[in-house]
Amino acid sequence: MIRPSFDHLPTHYPFMLGLEQFKTEALLAGRLKEAGIEVERGVELLSFCDTGDQVSAKLKHPSGAETTETFDYLLGADGAHSTVRSGLGLKLEGETLDATWITADVKIRWDRDPSEFVALLSEDGIAFIAAMNDDRWRVIVTDPEMTHEQAQKASLGEVQNIVNERFRTNIALYDPVWISAFGINTRLAPAMNRGRVFLAGDAAHVHSPLGGQGMNTGIQDALNLTWKLGLVLQGLAKPALLASYDAERHYNAKRLLSRVGPATRMANLRNPVAIEVRNQVIHVLGHLGMSRVVPHVMSMLDVAYPESPIISESRTSWLSRGPRSGERAPDAEELLVSNHREPQRLFALWSGDPRHQLLVFEPRKSKSLRLPSLPSPIS
Ligand SMILES: Cc1cc2nc3c(=O)[nH]c(=O)nc-3n(C[C@H](O)[C@H](O)[C@H](O)COP(=O)(O)OP(=O)(O)OC[C@H]3O[C@@H](n4cnc5c(N)ncnc54)[C@H](O)[C@@H]3O)c2cc1C
Repeated sequence: MIRPSFDHLPTHYPFMLGLEQFKTEALLAGRLKEAGIEVERGVELLSFCDTGDQVSAKLKHPSGAETTETFDYLLGADGAHSTVRSGLGLKLEGETLDATWITADVKIRWDRDPSEFVALLSEDGIAFIAAMNDDRWRVIVTDPEMTHEQAQKASLGEVQNIVNERFRTNIALYDPVWISAFGINTRLAPAMNRGRVFLAGDAAHVHSPLGGQGMNTGIQDALNLTWKLGLVLQGLAKPALLASYDAERHYNAKRLLSRVGPATRMANLRNPVAIEVRNQVIHVLGHLGMSRVVPHVMSMLDVAYPESPIISESRTSWLSRGPRSGERAPDAEELLVSNHREPQRLFALWSGDPRHQLLVFEPRKSKSLRLPSLPSPIS
């Protein structure tokens, strides 16, 4: 059993937080509504044409009516079978593993700390158990003897048997809210942008749910693109800024797949000798620090854009410490800020402010950080 530890992560939130996807989607829809944006469900994109100065899209409405409408840009966040991606003539390139996994969101009778992520190893496979919220855990298991069709119909009893028999445990699972089977792809589109059309999320990259990175990566794609689109549409930045989206997010997706792909293949081994070697290696690495590496990768705190065309760096000395351009700014504790009485935390100062931030450090002897007063946010 491997128990990754989150304590060492450079964050104020050193734990796993599980929130079901439908709840995440409801939260996002709520924020859109607050901003006066209504999501039109049931409108299907049939086809589109990028004319160079706009994109025309043929839409089918829930009533069955079809309309053609024009937009400045098109973002295809339409999942693994993306109409937008195929309209661009791009394919998801990579591999599909010959494997079916089962995932079950259940309650478990045990006294484990919900901040733990548990991996069970046996010669018959790997099982992962991670805490969700509401006292529930997500169990992900393989059973090499099940066909995809059998796995799709798996009952709680069958999942229970796999966990207990294959992994020699007596963990009691109960009260399932979701049991489902999934196949495993590790695939990436060759680009995430052509002209005025962009791809985000599973439309551009798909991989196994090991590590829980899929939806989070899609949301970060959207976040990366939308502030740039916002500036361009308001005439505050040149359209060339948008090229950094593909440079940054395609680079990130490729790096993610290069980590998740091999980990998934390792989890999916069938050869008994290879399985034994893998389990021994994981046990040794577990003692040597794998329990620290896995959370570091899962946390995505190391997402960086060193090759982005919109960053540059000027250093007075190569020996200077601190993050390099394109790297995530570390949270800083106990900052003395000239217009605050108490020491501040950097991310707390930035929280809720969507503007770009400029940090100006005064010479060490003044012991305080001066925050210039900024104009109000652009509406
Ligand atoms: C078992 C399992 C567990 C997972 N666990 C995690 C996890 O713990 N953490 C995590 O981050 N990720 C997880 N993922 C991955 C995550 O679910 C996906 O990465 C995420 O749903 C992708 O979101 P998306 O919006 O890109 O695509 P989708 O969720 O596929 O949404 C695409 C949407 O586009 C719509 N659409 C498609 N075509 C059209 C069209 N022509 N016109 C209009 N609309 C269209 C679809 O109806 C759909 O609503 C998991 C996945 C699986 C299978």
